[in-house]
Amino acid sequence: MKVLVVGSGGREHAIAWKLSQSSRVSTVYVAPGNGGTALTSSLQNIAISKKEELAQFAQNNGIAFTVVGPEAPLADGIVDLFRAKGLAIFGPTQAAAQLESSKDFAKAFLTRHGIPTAAYATFTDTTAAHHYVDEQGAPIVIKADGLAAGKGVVVAETLEQAHKAIDDMLGGGKLGAAGARVVIEGFLKGEEASFIVMVDGKNVLPLASSQDHKRQLDHDQGPNTGGMGAYSPAPIVTDVLHDRIMREIILPTVQGMADDGIVFTGFLYAGLMIDKGDDATRPINVLEFNCRMGDPETQPIMMRIRNDFADVIEKAIAGKLDQAHIDWDPRTTLGVVMAAENYPASPRTGDVITGIPAATADCVTFHAGTKLDGDTLRTSGGRVLCVTAIGDTVELARKTAYDTVAQIHFDGAQYRKDIAWRALKK
Ligand code: ATP
Repeated sequence: MKVLVVGSGGREHAIAWKLSQSSRVSTVYVAPGNGGTALTSSLQNIAISKKEELAQFAQNNGIAFTVVGPEAPLADGIVDLFRAKGLAIFGPTQAAAQLESSKDFAKAFLTRHGIPTAAYATFTDTTAAHHYVDEQGAPIVIKADGLAAGKGVVVAETLEQAHKAIDDMLGGGKLGAAGARVVIEGFLKGEEASFIVMVDGKNVLPLASSQDHKRQLDHDQGPNTGGMGAYSPAPIVTDVLHDRIMREIILPTVQGMADDGIVFTGFLYAGLMIDKGDDATRPINVLEFNCRMGDPETQPIMMRIRNDFADVIEKAIAGKLDQAHIDWDPRTTLGVVMAAENYPASPRTGDVITGIPAATADCVTFHAGTKLDGDTLRTSGGRVLCVTAIGDTVELARKTAYDTVAQIHFDGAQYRKDIAWRALKK
């Protein structure tokens, strides 16, 4: 069968790579894909991204199912359109995607259903927002309501930073429509973890736990980014915490959406803040929901799946996730993101990339911001590659990944040297 993956990042490269391993999948189309998916013989890029054109392509080419990587097409209603045309697709409807596309929607949902999250208030009026942060004090977190590609959150350590963020978003229109409404929420301390599940409307299949590294620089310094590396499993998510996260957060979310008349299907990603303490009682709060897999968490997660992922997706679309299972490789996988010069502020593009070794069973270089220019591979975005390795221990996976990173060259390349430091500390 032929399948379609929508998107162009490292996440989509990893999903397409995994699907292409299925003996039942003959071709994986990636729309629009990147330099890496163009170079892989089992994958085929198609240069379209409008949802109507994608639906037409799926119809004309007998696509068995479509998987959507990024949030923008989901928030734009690609799932609604495909379903209206009778095309199989895995993802949430536009209404369900509001869990990610509107932080105000997500916070109101969480609060209404008693799912733990920081206290918050939502503002469109600048004066009222300034007044609220003065009342609450710092640290405090200012979030643009809409999608802002990871740039819409300011963790303000001082009142001055909080006031500036409000002025930038509400007053200055810095993030456009996404920042015309802001959510202001209490600062949460603890350790973050990504908990991603697949949902078919009623059944939930959890994926392996993982941990992202949001800050640009080692020791979690520098600005927030889309993510500079990830690994799986995340040791913080013990069996006890896993059960609690399912019981206290994931299942009430899926049930709450159904109760609200907005059935959720697709990948559901809970960004969690886990405070210190005993696993049975330590506070777990929802920082955010995403209605798709994370990037770069997907890369290490896909590498740990040993069985046929196309089969799992088909069951999810058919509402039979209760009959699906994932055979997880017990080893650790770890991905190091290589980013372009000046990422995240204003990444330089067009640099020539050399030295990427052929994929092995232990290490795969997933592409993100790359493009083929004739025979030359060039950088074309902020996050360029995610070198992902597997090993019996975190140390071994890390060594393999960094040994590969050392072979790859492009001018201005930057990457963190401490991916998985929390796991190693444990
Ligand atoms: P993403 O790029 O993952 O989509 P986003 O823009 O949707 O991110 P959030 O995940 O809500 O934003 O926040 C980004 C980061 O800011 C979090 O990973 C976390 O490090 C920090 N953060 C968000 N909310 C809080 C909070 N209430 N307390 C402390 N830190 C927070």
